[in-house]
Amino acid sequence: MLRLTELRLPLDHPPEALRQAVCDRLGISMDALDHVTVFKRGHDARRRSAIWLVYTVDCAVRDEDAVLARYQAAHPGNTRVLPAPDMAWHAPITNGAALAAAPGYKRPVVIGAGPCGFMAALMLARMGLRPLLLERGKIVRERTVDTFALWRRSILTPESNVQFGEGGAGTFSDGKLYSQVRDPRFLGRKVLEEFVKAGAPEDILYLAHPHIGTFRLVSMVEHIRQEVEQAGGEYRFESRVEELLLDPATRRVQGVRLATGEVIEADHVVLAVGHSARDTFAMLHEQGVQMQAKPFSMGVRIEHPQSVIDIAQFGPSAGNEQLGAAEYRLVHHASNGRGVYSFCMCPGGTVVAATSEEGRVVTNGMSQYSRAERNANAGMVVELRPGEDYPDDPLAGMAFQRHWERQAFLAGGGDYKAPAQRVGDFLAGRPSTALGDVVPSYKPGVTPTDLSTCLPGFVVEALREALPRFERKIKGFAMDDAVMTGVETRTSSPLRIPRGEDGQSVNTPGLYPAGEGAGYAGGILSAAMDGIRMAEAVAQDMAGLPVTL
Ligand code: FAD
Repeated sequence: MLRLTELRLPLDHPPEALRQAVCDRLGISMDALDHVTVFKRGHDARRRSAIWLVYTVDCAVRDEDAVLARYQAAHPGNTRVLPAPDMAWHAPITNGAALAAAPGYKRPVVIGAGPCGFMAALMLARMGLRPLLLERGKIVRERTVDTFALWRRSILTPESNVQFGEGGAGTFSDGKLYSQVRDPRFLGRKVLEEFVKAGAPEDILYLAHPHIGTFRLVSMVEHIRQEVEQAGGEYRFESRVEELLLDPATRRVQGVRLATGEVIEADHVVLAVGHSARDTFAMLHEQGVQMQAKPFSMGVRIEHPQSVIDIAQFGPSAGNEQLGAAEYRLVHHASNGRGVYSFCMCPGGTVVAATSEEGRVVTNGMSQYSRAERNANAGMVVELRPGEDYPDDPLAGMAFQRHWERQAFLAGGGDYKAPAQRVGDFLAGRPSTALGDVVPSYKPGVTPTDLSTCLPGFVVEALREALPRFERKIKGFAMDDAVMTGVETRTSSPLRIPRGEDGQSVNTPGLYPAGEGAGYAGGILSAAMDGIRMAEAVAQDMAGLPVTL
């Protein structure tokens, strides 16, 4: 199999043009080409009048070695045709079932049923190690009811909401599935394949910027649970871990205690609690688990009509089915030294209430697979620095988030409505008293006000500078009626729980800090990839093998 990269074809090319392009690249006739599969498809919209689709394909050809040798001789040093890499995932142990059958076997425990936790559990179960997954929230269908209660009726359930429950934080989301992390072992591919097996749309395997959307995510996490259970794993919901049991002399993990008081013995505990488990972070800190403050970002969500973004990005090709609803990615370095950037952009989606704590307002975004809602939304966030904006103490970032989330709650009117402001008013430094043509999608509703009361001054300053700059890149971005809703604080974990080369906490052996909450991921895909890595580390340790992360 050969892998060809950078095959460029016009947007509306006929399907057979791809095979022809492969033959042209390789200098072979059509009958020498056996089959072609698209590995990735992106687009190049730098010239809006001539948008290109850009393919990476894998193909089987007759006399493959000779074809490759001929290409390389004709194009020395060119890497656009190479042997296709082996992308298969290979389990690091094969004796898991035997280990699990041994007397006195202690199952590995995974805390948290987000993408990191459920992927770790899936891999451990497939290796025969019968993991136990503990999740503080509810099974996903019940969790959906609780989440909608906040959005529709302003009723928050602190243990079952957008952040907590089966599927983790990204369940009610756009389900974007790409990541910038280096992936030499194709773990991202493994995650996508598992997601497709569990019901995610197949195009996530080849689109450069794939997404699943909320409805499909919900049924996908159910299917993954069934897979884990069929392979010998177990899920327990409404099972919040409240304490680690540690050997007093060595600090080695011996198990966990649940909020119910129940004790579960374990020598291997994967900690995949996400970035919002503030009580759990406080507990770990009190128990002496090493952690450190980590930079994160905060700001607001901004909404525009999706048609404005489509036209700005795709020009005359706006609305083309191959392109879908347009995305954007914006960065500005403000003169006060702060980076301002777009975060978690959701084309054709809605802004959602994402708090997990009472008396606070937090924004985020979601969409359905169709991305057909009227507005585009994205976080517009500004970098924060521990030691400068809040004390350099592991828990201080959390306190900082809480403070501004509370200010937003109060500015919104104290009933979970979010404070909102027209961009025109924000730039002019006056409060909004009404909104204009862009109808905000946030539920349970917004209160027009002055967002500068619930954001640090340097964040306001950086945003005021950045928005007109972004207008130069996307016409309409700083339009008066675009709506900003606040506050967006849960952009990533405010702390990091360091781990060693073997995946274990640097001062608490047997604890495997993982995923977004521990500072090892920033999104669904990278969290799930980290879950695979931690499952591998646990399995290797259980089998007495050296751990290779
Ligand atoms: P989480 O998904 O946060 O899962 C942690 C789990 O641990 C939770 O279910 C929680 O209930 C549980 N838990 C916490 N404490 C305990 C405890 N003490 N005991 C037992 N269980 C516990 N990312 C993307 O890549 N694409 C997107 O489109 C996207 N959209 C998002 C939209 C929204 C509204 C939100 C909130 C997030 C979005 N994200 C998105 C971010 C993404 O969801 C996270 O990066 C990802 O879920 C992190 O995975 P995780 O498994 O590390 O943690």
